[in-house]
Amino acid sequence: MEHLEPVSDMNRTNLYDYDRAALARLLAGWGFGDYYAGLLWRYLYRSAARNFEEMPDLHPDLRLLLSERAVLGTMHCILSQESKDGTRKILLSLTNGADGEQVETVLMPYRDRYTVCISTQAGCAMGCVFCATGQMGFVRNLSAGEIVAQVLFAIKLAQDVPDRRKLRNVVMMGMGEPLHNYAATMTAIRILTSDTGLAIAPRHITLSTVGLVPAIYRLAEEEIAVNLAVSLHGATDDERNALVPLGRRWSLDDLMSACRAYGEKRNRRIFFEWTLIDGKNDAPQQAHALGRLLKNIDAHVNLIPLNPTEEFGGDPSRREAIAQFKAILDRYGIPSTVRQRRGIDIDAGCGQLRRRSLERQGS
Ligand code: SAH
Ligand code: SF4
Repeated sequence: MEHLEPVSDMNRTNLYDYDRAALARLLAGWGFGDYYAGLLWRYLYRSAARNFEEMPDLHPDLRLLLSERAVLGTMHCILSQESKDGTRKILLSLTNGADGEQVETVLMPYRDRYTVCISTQAGCAMGCVFCATGQMGFVRNLSAGEIVAQVLFAIKLAQDVPDRRKLRNVVMMGMGEPLHNYAATMTAIRILTSDTGLAIAPRHITLSTVGLVPAIYRLAEEEIAVNLAVSLHGATDDERNALVPLGRRWSLDDLMSACRAYGEKRNRRIFFEWTLIDGKNDAPQQAHALGRLLKNIDAHVNLIPLNPTEEFGGDPSRREAIAQFKAILDRYGIPSTVRQRRGIDIDAGCGQLRRRSLERQGS
């Protein structure tokens, strides 16, 4: 039997890291024209080829070059849990990655479709006090290919489930701050939305940010218009800063100006996330302050009862406090939805499954 030397994957380039234009440049550098870039692109995203053998129409010389110099950086599953509500939480590791870093991806079934919640960083540098990812600190940025591979994994998973739901929505609300990993996040968005590839509609992609003000302005100028969700949690600077340290860098005034600019430029409603914590940010006067803050902006508020984490002593708000908070927003004419974090019985809070896995490994 032929013996093949193992080749270090670290020296090979991950094809999922390339948007369509960059893929054309890569192949041009190897002497292959755009026709082959288009062909390869469709193999990657239309046919979901798993290896270069599944790309029969590629030029044999190109296939050889690819097998020597490139990989398909798919993810493999380390841990998967299914919740009573059908939410499936997956801990993924880069198959060809060097450091075996793990990230969380959550697949959520709705009536007629799936939504996938993906991570953009391992850990997070923003330090929001109630967040399990913030509590672990920053580990590293994910590459565009690692962000895209989570969606590819979810599409496959959705196809394997015997129902007719398809993956339609992508939310960047998993581990990490997408705007703190701006370039890779944008490349991933270009790949996900490409008409000749996965063709996910920009309106079906939501980017959630803790509020990096300059990056919000930059995002507003991008060619692709995704939905913006902004994590608020407090409607005065002091109250917000106690939960979201980043608030000390950019005031609520600055943040709201950036949100208004995004909404006007894109002609879109902005989503605001508010994690409801018992006795901390769920009092009627805080709902009034939020109502006043959002007076001049087309907004939708997502109220998310806290998913308790180990290092933060808080509890989720009580049912009556949640109802009252929502009723006050109604009076200001601000639409809101109470979103139970799905899969609460399976550590589906951001960053919690990874922590559980590390605990099991004794680290
Ligand atoms: N970094 C981005 C996106 C990832 S966090 C951001 O902060 O927006 C996605 C959402 O989950 C944020 O609104 C965040 O505040 C919320 N979140 C994090 N930990 C939570 C917890 N333990 N309970 C409830 N919501 C939480
Ligand atoms: Fe980072 Fe978002 Fe968690 Fe804050 S809530 S620590 S920004 S992942």
